[in-house]
Amino acid sequence: MQIEKNVSVGSLTTFHIEAKASRLLTLKSENELPALCEAFRAEKGAARRPLILGAGSNVLFTGDYDGLVAVNRLTGVRELEPGPEGEYRFRAASGETMDHLVRMLTLSGHPGLENLVLIPGSVGGAAVQNIGAYGLEAAERIESVEICDLEDGSRRVLSCEECDFRYRDSVFKRPQAASWLVTAVTFSLPAPQDWLPVTGYKGLAAALEGKPLDAAAVMHAVEALRRAKLPDPEAVGNAGSFFKNPVIPELQARALLESYPSLVSYPLGGRRTKLAAGWLIEAAGFKGASVGAAAVWDRQALVLVNRGGATGRDVEALCARIIEGIERKFGVRLTPEVVIL
Ligand SMILES: Cc1cc2nc3c(=O)[nH]c(=O)nc-3n(C[C@H](O)[C@H](O)[C@H](O)COP(=O)(O)OP(=O)(O)OC[C@H]3O[C@@H](n4cnc5c(N)ncnc54)[C@H](O)[C@@H]3O)c2cc1C
Repeated sequence: MQIEKNVSVGSLTTFHIEAKASRLLTLKSENELPALCEAFRAEKGAARRPLILGAGSNVLFTGDYDGLVAVNRLTGVRELEPGPEGEYRFRAASGETMDHLVRMLTLSGHPGLENLVLIPGSVGGAAVQNIGAYGLEAAERIESVEICDLEDGSRRVLSCEECDFRYRDSVFKRPQAASWLVTAVTFSLPAPQDWLPVTGYKGLAAALEGKPLDAAAVMHAVEALRRAKLPDPEAVGNAGSFFKNPVIPELQARALLESYPSLVSYPLGGRRTKLAAGWLIEAAGFKGASVGAAAVWDRQALVLVNRGGATGRDVEALCARIIEGIERKFGVRLTPEVVIL
């Protein structure tokens, strides 16, 4: 396993923003884990703590990374024994591409992940971020997650409950997991007779009208909706939704609704309400706003894009301007979903 020095990492992220890592290595097999642990321990005292990079679809480098970047390319998918209710179970190595897995399973008659099609990123990243789209979160299909603690090389399997999945959050984002590498994820998918399509999300039911309601149809409908709204990172650098949808007290949401009747909000129970961050950004007049070559995407205000040649600092400055503007106008503080480095 070779450590490369002063390597460009721009092409390893979907923002395509130029930055260099002082040290970089690529993990291709679990046999290399002891060497990765050694490299990890050798970083004690480095300016930045080691960073695990999956497909780089949810990170923003704001400058060069003075530390070790470990790129995860562990591959392999295998089917496990069915669960007690006939559930299909698949173990996927964390460096597998989540979108490939979703397509492969859906099209081979294993429904359950179809709503998550076209979300870029690795299987490991999907668990860390608990990705979600069109009414489904990864957590609803994850049975367990395997990790390696790079500090001492120990391995553990965490049950779904231990992963403590929340909205775009999990135990893997907390301080105790700073030295954990997710190595594999086991998904549990409903047996075909127990599968129910998830079509409650705005626009999806309408897109499916008149079509047979099978998993492939749901997947293709989600794909079409996403393509119409979101920029293809290959053409326009971006990291998907830049901000999380804010969750605020119900009373505050009611007051906002009085002033802004078209506000998009979802009651969550527990006297809390989720607001659509994209609506807030658009209503505050930020659609199309820019700093340098970083801009708010004109078809979906939740997405910040690199129009070509943007720096990480441009994106960071645009992010700060939006947070400040939303707080001033609505009294709601947005938090980034993207990991800002
Ligand atoms: C066009 C576009 C659309 C998107 N749409 C959605 C969407 O609909 N829903 C959604 O939820 N997200 C969406 N995203 C965000 C992104 O795709 C997900 O967050 C994805 O899961 C990130 O995976 P990754 O492998 O790219 O992670 P990276 O960006 O490489 O890393 C993200 C974080 O996870 C950590 N990490 C990654 N892999 C591991 C590992 N194996 N072990 C430990 N830590 C790890 C990294 O250190 C980092 O902190 C979108 C992004 C883009 C570009």
